[in-house]
Amino acid sequence: MMSENNYNDEKYFDENCIFCKIVEKQIPADIVYEDEYTIAFKDLQPKATIHLLVIPKVHMKDIIEVDEYYMSKVHSSIKNIVEQLGLAEKGFRVISNCGAGAGQSVWHFHFHLLSGKYERFDNH
Ligand code: 5GP
Ligand code: ZN
Repeated sequence: MMSENNYNDEKYFDENCIFCKIVEKQIPADIVYEDEYTIAFKDLQPKATIHLLVIPKVHMKDIIEVDEYYMSKVHSSIKNIVEQLGLAEKGFRVISNCGAGAGQSVWHFHFHLLSGKYERFDNH
């Protein structure tokens, strides 16, 4: 699938966004997976034995704003990570909080990928 957008446009980078800074390696993160389009790293405050954040390398604020091109890239990454970590056998959850009312606190689209023993995850 080809994209018509120029993802190098500055609107796809937010200098105040902590996840954009992780993408640019301006701040450290425990990165477990990376490809051309996406990156996945450990959540700072894990709510499960395995708690990763899978994000596009472009700044799109939530699951509504992310486009189908990058959504498909994130989907591919999740499948790769599940394969690499053997999560299919264990079972896992994929969650995206959208809006402050749902607990979103970082305004760069991300999926939480959780597996193992869980803590409460509602309204964290
Ligand atoms: P949200 O609340 O938007 O659904 O999820 C944001 C997640 O990002 C939270 O679970 C929070 O712990 C995590 N988080 C916030 N800042 C950082 C950071 O600088 N590094 C990492 N690794 N995780 C972060
Ligand atoms: Zn961002």
